[in-house]
Amino acid sequence: MNLILLGPPGAGKGTQAKRLEDIYGIVQLSTGDMLRAEVGSGSDLGKQAKGIMESGGLVPDDLIINMISGRIDQDDCKNGFILDGFPRTVPQADALGAMLSDKGLKIDYVIAIEADSDAVVTRITGRYTCSSCGAGYHDEFQKPEQDGVCDKCGSTDFTRRADDNAETVRNRLAAYEEQTAPIIAYYGEKGTLKTVDGMADIDVVTAKLKELIG
Ligand code: ADP
Ligand code: ADP
Ligand code: ZN
Repeated sequence: MNLILLGPPGAGKGTQAKRLEDIYGIVQLSTGDMLRAEVGSGSDLGKQAKGIMESGGLVPDDLIINMISGRIDQDDCKNGFILDGFPRTVPQADALGAMLSDKGLKIDYVIAIEADSDAVVTRITGRYTCSSCGAGYHDEFQKPEQDGVCDKCGSTDFTRRADDNAETVRNRLAAYEEQTAPIIAYYGEKGTLKTVDGMADIDVVTAKLKELIG
């Protein structure tokens, strides 16, 4: 089963994708995570992406499409994948359709997680992640059970993303409205789109996603 999770930055795509990975045995493909790994390794792609990501703009479509195409070919995607943060422009959505049909694959569900822009700013500026296992947390909404200790792996090391600051967030939301929101209508016209209320509690959103996917 292959899914696309759409929605603004901070809607909860990554949080829900990690849960769906465990529930359905499919892998999360986050283009943001992949790009951060490229930046961290200092690769050519990372060098091209770094400044764009810091300012909150979008990395050029051709770079993203190559990156994701190679990733889908890897063995761990055999059972299925969850696209998180991709496609983000109409040309990316078109390229995805062509790429999957070349590979003999298709998308089973496109689900948009809806969230208010005020709420997503609070979510993004309070977001942090376990440095060891990548589990996601929030200062207010999703604290670890024991303060400063990761629930999943016990690590006491956490990181915050460089682009999760108030100014970059404004640019990211503008990029979302201009370039990404149109793909909701794009999939709506194809008749494959479902939506969930991302303002509900994390567990409620997960339950709703399970209901939609079946
Ligand atoms: P996205 O991947 O869409 O950018 P995340 O999944 O990283 O968003 O969520 C952003 C932040 O908001 C995280 O810190 C996460 O813990 C928190 N969060 C996610 N879903 C919810 C929710 N339904 N209610 C409250 N906080 C949430
Ligand atoms: P969020 O879900 O919180 O917006 P992501 O981790 O998905 O953040 O993306 C972080 C940054 O990586 C984006 O602001 C953008 O610069 C870049 N990026 C991620 N995915 C894409 C994509 N599909 N196309 C273009 N740029 C991307
Ligand atoms: Zn951890």
